[in-house]
Amino acid sequence: MALLLKKPTSEDKLQVLGKTAEFDVCGIPRLFSPPGKKLQRFKFIYPAVGKGGCVRLFKVLQTNFCEGNCFYCANRKDRDFNRISFSPDELARLFVQYHQRGLVDGLFLSSAIYGSPTQSQEQTFKTLYLVRKKYGYKGYIHYKVLPGCNATLMEKCAAFADRLSINLEAPGHHYLSKLSPTKNFSSQLLAGLEKIALLNKERPLKAGITTQFVVGAAGEKDKDILSLSNQLYRKYKLWRIYYSGFFPMKNTPLENIPPCPPLREFRIYQADFLLKGYGFTPEELPFEESGNLPRDVDPKLAWALSHPEKFPVEINRADYWELLRIPGVGRVSAKRVIKRRKEGRITTLEELKGAGCVVKRARNFVTLSGKFSPSGEKEERNTNYQLFLWEEI
Ligand code: SF4
Repeated sequence: MALLLKKPTSEDKLQVLGKTAEFDVCGIPRLFSPPGKKLQRFKFIYPAVGKGGCVRLFKVLQTNFCEGNCFYCANRKDRDFNRISFSPDELARLFVQYHQRGLVDGLFLSSAIYGSPTQSQEQTFKTLYLVRKKYGYKGYIHYKVLPGCNATLMEKCAAFADRLSINLEAPGHHYLSKLSPTKNFSSQLLAGLEKIALLNKERPLKAGITTQFVVGAAGEKDKDILSLSNQLYRKYKLWRIYYSGFFPMKNTPLENIPPCPPLREFRIYQADFLLKGYGFTPEELPFEESGNLPRDVDPKLAWALSHPEKFPVEINRADYWELLRIPGVGRVSAKRVIKRRKEGRITTLEELKGAGCVVKRARNFVTLSGKFSPSGEKEERNTNYQLFLWEEI
């Protein structure tokens, strides 16, 4: 392990501990990350998607000293690089200064595991407590719970955070064993998620609970991930699930595994939305024989193209859930269509466009008062359609 010869300043630490926090995602898939200059200049400020749009999170690890040795992770014990830590007050003060300067909108606080999970969690809890109590910060905090941390401490954290999360990393023990030699999927990760779900049920957190998967490092299939995601949404009422495409780190055992294509990550997000908000079941998702989603077409269009018996849908009669199945119609536009119908029948493509539908796509799947007006063009298997899925994140 390399030693630092000169005492690092707080800003030096931010550069290092902010950079290594990037693998904890909480926002926009890489395919659509905005290349904002300001965000690039500060390696510890990350874009995330909030209710009102894109927010800037001050995202940092309390320490990168780690007892863990996960095969993919930059912070793993056996990797030789500079180790560094913030004291709780140093980190709390720094964050509040950045917030007061208007450079960030919220805090994402996490840590590697130094000593035991509970010891590390005590340090981040102190930071959390100081940010709230000493510095009086009232805004958004996403607080990462470490697997194996004790339950009493989790309860204390829940009282100060807006969101709690614990990373499951892989869809089951078999895949997790390819990522980590020590973590136990059921007794540590799933049990931890269950605990924060219970806390959220007893006293709902403002921004709920979330989890995260690493995609593409363990040979898991999209189907494995999304089937588990579906169960997690139903059982634990997760606010969101994040999917972090694997990226190989030098000097780790997985350095020669190819990175996850950003499009794979994006397709999984799209399918996740179909499960969470569009009434789809995992069995309805258009997995290929390989168990993965097609990359050249968004999953909702793929489903529609393989179910010609369901179309065209009469736009003036369809209920909310039928509208949601139409390519080019999202949750906001489906509600607008229903509202607009109260004023009279929708008979033109302009009216459909006025409700926010992507007419170029929807017209191939609907009738307007019995009239079918397809574009006449063959459906493109275009990568960037269905972006409207992001309209309400
Ligand atoms: S526990 Fe594993 S994933 Fe977490 S910081 Fe340590 S090596 Fe990385």
